[in-house]
Amino acid sequence: MNETVDQLLAGPPLGASESELVDWISRLEEVKCTAEAVQAEAAVRLDEATRVRQAEAGVPARKLGEGVASQIALARRVSPAKGAKLLGLAKILLTEMPHTFALMKAGLFSQWQATILARETACLSLEDRRVIDFQLCALGSDGEPPAVVTMGLRQLENAAKKLAITLDQESVVARAANAEKDRRVSIRPAPDTMTWLGALLPVKDGVAVYAALDQAAKAAQAAGDERTRGQVMADTLVDRITGRDGVDAKPRIEVKIVMTAEALAADSDQPAMVEGYGPVPATWAREALTDAEVFVRRLFADPAGQLVAMESRSRKAPDSLAEFIKTRDGGICRTNGCDAPNRNVDHAQRHADGGTTSAQNLQGLCERCNQAKEALGWQARPGPDGSIITITPTGHIYTSPPPATRHLATRPTALVPGRVHASRRTPRPRSCRVRFSASAALPYAAHPRTLAV
Ligand SMILES: [Zn+2]
Repeated sequence: MNETVDQLLAGPPLGASESELVDWISRLEEVKCTAEAVQAEAAVRLDEATRVRQAEAGVPARKLGEGVASQIALARRVSPAKGAKLLGLAKILLTEMPHTFALMKAGLFSQWQATILARETACLSLEDRRVIDFQLCALGSDGEPPAVVTMGLRQLENAAKKLAITLDQESVVARAANAEKDRRVSIRPAPDTMTWLGALLPVKDGVAVYAALDQAAKAAQAAGDERTRGQVMADTLVDRITGRDGVDAKPRIEVKIVMTAEALAADSDQPAMVEGYGPVPATWAREALTDAEVFVRRLFADPAGQLVAMESRSRKAPDSLAEFIKTRDGGICRTNGCDAPNRNVDHAQRHADGGTTSAQNLQGLCERCNQAKEALGWQARPGPDGSIITITPTGHIYTSPPPATRHLATRPTALVPGRVHASRRTPRPRSCRVRFSASAALPYAAHPRTLAV
């Protein structure tokens, strides 16, 4: 097959044989690998060009290269954190792992395979990394591709690990010890209004937590508890961490739910948003509210937009306005492709450039995006419909759609943020205290970040 890339992308001809179809799939795989290599090359050149431009403009040395990862992320439609990883990998491939890069460019090795090699050699000296690059990825004397090309990902990882240990055992051991610094807890949505709570822990701690939960399950089952082992372990985890225990204990955890007034009153089934989780069915949200002590105030007075028009003369957004922005933006960064938690309330158009401290001109950004936006040549402004328009130094324009379309399909005028002290127990019929305030003033001061029920 000698088709051009355009011909390949147009798809196989009608009536192509099975063999030709397999060839087509295989050739396209090569094109993908080559494309990833060329993207890496372009990323490194963009980084170099940006640094030159910034240096000429007098940007201090420690700030050179700022914003490049975010531009790559926007262009590749991934999060800025991922953009930074891709740029880091690109630099390593082009400067430290020439054989790996050549395999990619020849269409024989994917970006993910290259990432594994870069990761497994990260703790080594440049010299040792080059040895592994050569040993695993150099073509044979007859030009034959190396064995790594046909290895599974696990095999590839093991091959690189083995070489790394052989070359520099001390560094590998030191890296394992260092990894403890990365311990953390994470949360991500699971189907059916469930959520995964994960923890990356040193082995001894992880095993100890699991053993403690296992012990609790065994004890409960010995005492005749009818819950399954998994249910007891999950309940014990929640009880011990939150301090909630027993059916009648006062719930102490705050969960922020955003739903329309219609959905709250059961007149509509528009999905609600649980901050830190995502959309949930209105019925679920109503049940959660029924089961809890609720305090709800109307955020927007009708007609639409009283709050949107709310402005502050000061540069710093008042706590209440900042809290509103965070809720409006769903607790996540407004940058396209970025899922990082929203940590800063930022002026789209800078205050110094006449940007107002208003809901329309404010956006919730993660730390990385907030910093990238301050780099030389970046601009942003509010769009007419609640969107935020970002213009990168190269003149590329990215529009972040208004949050209402990100969370609730329609009727942003009726957004009602509620605070709910929820219990994990099955909902019991109980009167629901809901108060509405006529005031357009924002209802709540900053309070702890959310934890899903
Ligand atoms: Zn971000």
